[in-house]
Amino acid sequence: MTPDDRIYAYSAVLMGSPILLKLFEHNESLASRVFRLIKQQENIFTVNRPHSEVMAVNHAAGSHPVEVSQPVYELIKRAKAVSLLNDSLFNFTIGPLVKRWKIGFNGHSVPAASDLQSLLALTNPRDVILDDAARSVFLQHAGMEIDLGAIAKGYIADVVRDFLLAEQVPQGLINLGGNVQTLGASGQEGWGIGLKKPFAAEDALLGVIHVSNKSVVTSGIYERYFELDGRRYHHILDPKTGYPLDNELQSVTVISEDSIDGDIYTTLLYGMGVEKSLEYLQDLAHIEAIFVTKQQQIICSSHRQFGFTLLDNSYQLLR
Ligand code: AMP
Ligand code: MG
Repeated sequence: MTPDDRIYAYSAVLMGSPILLKLFEHNESLASRVFRLIKQQENIFTVNRPHSEVMAVNHAAGSHPVEVSQPVYELIKRAKAVSLLNDSLFNFTIGPLVKRWKIGFNGHSVPAASDLQSLLALTNPRDVILDDAARSVFLQHAGMEIDLGAIAKGYIADVVRDFLLAEQVPQGLINLGGNVQTLGASGQEGWGIGLKKPFAAEDALLGVIHVSNKSVVTSGIYERYFELDGRRYHHILDPKTGYPLDNELQSVTVISEDSIDGDIYTTLLYGMGVEKSLEYLQDLAHIEAIFVTKQQQIICSSHRQFGFTLLDNSYQLLR
């Protein structure tokens, strides 16, 4: 019997993505509790529906502070800190730009440069006032909008992992569409996680890595985009210009303990580009990354917690 014979897979579509749960036992009730938990969490963070804790903050922009729950407050506080790092690509107040572009949604268009300029004025992370004692969040200017879309899945993947651990499930995998979090290992090698081939068929893989007790997060410009007049506009925006960030990268994958770290670092490293990232990661023992470039090259920052097996020979594995 191969390890995979003992795996039970459960799937659902939530947060606009296919969600996959793998367990080593047949347990429908556990699976539905996991999916319910994901839905609950999504209802807290979403900005794609009128009501959520985050939307309550956004609706009160320019008017008054809003008290939020402890986990939401902590996530917003972390998002602000990461947004204020030097040269950070990550900006949790990017909402007005995301809403204007509508990339990946009906009604997308390329905004006029002057529109982008005026929206950029509403995306200063310093204009979000946090009050620890009141646990409140205040967006100082009308029209400001928090968007946690880049990190909500990572946060939720960790919530699911913690839930499974509390339920004494030693082995499992949750895939939230781009964010994978694993418990234990599947077989001796660990869980095999495929890396998608950019701009190819859904099931086309560049390669596979094996990990145990780790999160694997990928952020790529092929995930959500539209094309107009021969140009491609993808969903990771440069908070300095308001346009999709244009550099040598197609995707960044981060291997880390917590999926929230993976989500934060994929965005930060994407903004740094390959060379700077490799230098930066030398000092970070708990984060590893795989970069895929438009030149069809794959570069791993290190191989402490995973090996990479190349499956597509049109790409070149550099290290
Ligand atoms: P991900 O798929 O995890 O890379 O996250 C992409 C999502 O994050 C987008 O759909 C936006 O909602 C949001 N986003 C886009 N650009 C940025 C940015 N520069 N900083 C933070 N969030 C962003
Ligand atoms: Mg992300």
